[in-house]
Amino acid sequence: MTYVVTEACIKCKYTDCVEVCPVDCFYEGPNSLVIDPDECIDCTLCVAECPVNAIYAEDDLPEDQRQFSALNAELCKVWKCIVEKKDPPADADEWKEVKDKLHLLEREYAPGEEERNYPGGSKDGKDEDGLTGMDKLLMR
Ligand code: SF4
Ligand code: SF4
Repeated sequence: MTYVVTEACIKCKYTDCVEVCPVDCFYEGPNSLVIDPDECIDCTLCVAECPVNAIYAEDDLPEDQRQFSALNAELCKVWKCIVEKKDPPADADEWKEVKDKLHLLEREYAPGEEERNYPGGSKDGKDEDGLTGMDKLLMR
């Protein structure tokens, strides 16, 4: 099983969740996050951190959020790994109660936006030694 980020994250992206993930399996797009289902170890730690209750166990996804299972699996392959909390969008609080935000999901960064987000270059989830969060967990 895996955990899944759902619609409530869109345009909120508070990023509290990424700090607790022991395997660094959150990936960041322009206005939402997703979880890599192949890396998530079902520890549940992120669920309580999300102020808008956007994270569900895949088996417990509400009917109208099931499509986010495939979306997380797809977008984690193209978005960048995020391991540190950052400031949310300035208008995040205005969007946290809004439903039906899927049409607002941005899959691609605007030109130059990705470079601004990752000034140190591409973040693929590996540290300077080429290790992923899962690698480090297995070495403990
Ligand atoms: S804490 Fe919730 S709203 Fe914030 S980035 Fe994580 S899943 Fe999205
Ligand atoms: S359940 Fe655990 S491993 Fe999976 S995304 Fe949340 S914090 Fe990371």
